[in-house]
Amino acid sequence: MDPVVTRFAPSPTGRLHLGHAYSAIRAHDRARARGGRFLLRIEDIDGTRSRPEHIDAILADLAWLGLTWDGEVVRQSRRLDRYTAALERLRAMGLLYPCCCTRAEVAEAMSAPHGAFPLYPGTCRSLAAADLSRPHAWRLDMAAAVARVGPLVWRDGDRVIAADPLAQGDVVLARKDAPASYHLAVTVDDAAQGVTDVVRGVDLFAATHVHRLLQALLGLPVPRWHHHALLTGADGERLAKRHGAPALAALRERGEDGRALAERLRAGDFPNGAAIPTFGA
Ligand code: GLU
Repeated sequence: MDPVVTRFAPSPTGRLHLGHAYSAIRAHDRARARGGRFLLRIEDIDGTRSRPEHIDAILADLAWLGLTWDGEVVRQSRRLDRYTAALERLRAMGLLYPCCCTRAEVAEAMSAPHGAFPLYPGTCRSLAAADLSRPHAWRLDMAAAVARVGPLVWRDGDRVIAADPLAQGDVVLARKDAPASYHLAVTVDDAAQGVTDVVRGVDLFAATHVHRLLQALLGLPVPRWHHHALLTGADGERLAKRHGAPALAALRERGEDGRALAERLRAGDFPNGAAIPTFGA
């Protein structure tokens, strides 16, 4: 079996909190327990929200928790040409369309009923000729993409999940303000870095349907996923949202013992919610 390669891939748009620490530890320990590699990737394609001071704090937080990573810290902002190349390939397959909708227009389009949760209804998909002089994003024509590759599955731990990317709608692959979106950059980088096991929170479970599809379209290797439960407050509510989870930097700066905190996280001292949604195959 190939050596295990995992990664922690934070976006430096704010301070890390306990939930990030938990995720980083899960990814780190999975690699270390198997003699594998643990990589650190900074997801800073969002030039307006990413801040260098947050990157410095991430590195300090991880070291404080006693985590070590292998190789260079990869920064997505330095790899934009790779995302552009992947985007070009998808465009050449006829699977992308430009979308000039403003945020307000997208919000309005999504407020119409579409089933279980709001989806972009493809307003720009049928435009004969888009005005490319206007700021535009590039969206994936999801129905066409799914038709091209056919049914797909992916593995979450020992479960086999039927991919359902259609439920995510025509996702954005290149933003108006950046040559890639989260979905595209993550997919390209996980393959380029040889990641075999993607360990991340269950909040990104739905995104995996899209990532699996992009891998099939781009002919990329398919990792295993391990979506873990999110830390919660005692009431079961996700920690990050409601409870103002303390920033790791604040704990670190007031002299708390990061390694001891990591041990408590490993021991399950903090409550967490359901690990995998009950829907899916
Ligand atoms: N950068 C993403 C985040 O901070 C995580 C990416 C991933 O694990 O796939 O939420």
